[in-house]
Amino acid sequence: MGKSTTIIPRKATDKALFLFMVIGIPFGVFWLGFVILPHYHDELNSSVVMHIIAMVFVTYNIFHNLLLVIRTDASGRTSFLPSVLKPGWRYCAICQVNYPPRSYHCHTCDECILKRDHHCKFTGCCVGYHNHRYFLMGIFYIFIGALYGIYYQWEYVYETINLPVIYFFLCLLAPHFALLFGAINLWGVLVATLHTLGLATLLMVSYLLLMQAKAICQGQTQYEMKHNIHDYNLSLRQNIVDVLGRRWRIAWISPFIPSPLTGDGLKFLRATEYEPPKDI
Ligand SMILES: [Zn+2]
Ligand SMILES: [Zn+2]
Repeated sequence: MGKSTTIIPRKATDKALFLFMVIGIPFGVFWLGFVILPHYHDELNSSVVMHIIAMVFVTYNIFHNLLLVIRTDASGRTSFLPSVLKPGWRYCAICQVNYPPRSYHCHTCDECILKRDHHCKFTGCCVGYHNHRYFLMGIFYIFIGALYGIYYQWEYVYETINLPVIYFFLCLLAPHFALLFGAINLWGVLVATLHTLGLATLLMVSYLLLMQAKAICQGQTQYEMKHNIHDYNLSLRQNIVDVLGRRWRIAWISPFIPSPLTGDGLKFLRATEYEPPKDI
């Protein structure tokens, strides 16, 4: 048990998804920067520089946030966990420690996670109180990157496949059939496949982001949302602060911006005990 020294996940499915992500995202950036960008621009001008800055900024935010999801200890092992069971706490027979409300044991990570949200199969670790900000921002920037990439390359993809609209969309769904019928060449298959993968990523991450936004606005974890638990819904502002930290207004710009959380992951105010701050 305990935090692994490697960032590679332990479970085989997590490993496969992790590899898909760490190879797929840089490949997508390479594709946009070295295939699509030079197709639209023949010289280095301010527009090219802006695109390069945007790509670097988004890619940096994706990887740094996801790295921090993995490297931040989401378990309560470094916290003070009392030997006497307090009201609302529970004893984890596997970890053999008393854990506070909202903590749950993850059988993949083999440890209890404070304010456990869910186990992320792409990073191979749990998202909880201490790393939720990084997970949220990681998927936010994947969403931005996928949306930007899809929009930016759309014209190139449409020109390359060069089929009437209905066939164009059929070709995106099954490029190998389009190749068999001689409608596109091998390069067309590659372009269509990458575009479809990008669209699938955009759809998946939009769904994740929507679920996160819904739960966070209601002051819930994914577990609590599934089980209809509304005990910790304080106020919209406080719910956001509980995930993004005190400097939530600017914390989204970079994981480098310190934004301390208001609690310790052990005590949580219930909605019935909450009084909104008077200075706001
Ligand atoms: Zn446990
Ligand atoms: Zn886990």
